Amino acid sequence: MTIERNSKVSKPKEALSCCGILQAFSMDLPLAANLFLLLSAPFVGSFLDLLCERWPRAEPFLLGRSRCDHCGHDLKWRDLIPVASWIIAGGRCRYCGARVPGRHPIVEISALAIAIWSQAALPIQIAWIGMIFGWVLLALALIDLRSLWLPNALTLPLGLAGLLVAWVIAPERELDHVIGAILGYAMLVAIAFFYRRYRGREGLGEGDPRLFGALGAWVGWQGLGTVLLYAGIAGLLSLLIQARMGRTVELTTRLSFGPYLCLGGWLTWLYGPLYLE
Ligand SMILES: [Zn+2]
Repeated sequence: MTIERNSKVSKPKEALSCCGILQAFSMDLPLAANLFLLLSAPFVGSFLDLLCERWPRAEPFLLGRSRCDHCGHDLKWRDLIPVASWIIAGGRCRYCGARVPGRHPIVEISALAIAIWSQAALPIQIAWIGMIFGWVLLALALIDLRSLWLPNALTLPLGLAGLLVAWVIAPERELDHVIGAILGYAMLVAIAFFYRRYRGREGLGEGDPRLFGALGAWVGWQGLGTVLLYAGIAGLLSLLIQARMGRTVELTTRLSFGPYLCLGGWLTWLYGPLYLE
């Protein structure tokens, strides 16, 4: 049995060549937008890290990190350069010596990696869309990982943006994406319902169906199976790694499924759905 990509379904790269709307843009505008987003990627990562830490606790995050979380000392611009400040200070606060968690630079590097990945995988006209899509997925994954929460304020606009992007890239396939959004949401609501009914407890988070619906808006109904497949494989791999590292994972352990859905949605949007022949 071989697995191959179906060329007839929505893939941004191929859809673009058959649609003239974006070609009408001057090349300079996308180039400038891409360069700007690429250079700001580590700063976006820094902001996302703060957002994902403070939003679930209902703390202000819009003005950025201005004080050390430990000693409250005002941070200067040279304490706030993504990755570099953390490395130069040896992973500690320069004023009180408290350890600054390594997840800060990891999120900054992840945001940069998403930007570079988008540039490498997508045509220049839509690479900037890929970057923003990837960053929103990164934020959702981090919030779910840290707080087991998928905010509607992110999943709902993400779904609307998916429909809009699909309409701009390939308007003739818009219906596939509308069906993808509805079907994605309905599938996970149904799975959660039957799980609750037969196992007597919650199997999925409340936000998972909305996230899957939003991803359906991006990848179309043809991509839903692939998103679930990637998410399932990534989730299982992560469980195996955690079990090997000595963490007890039981059937009743609450796990976030959002990060794996985000990864599945990202890969499927970039490379198209897989089909079994
Ligand atoms: Zn400090």
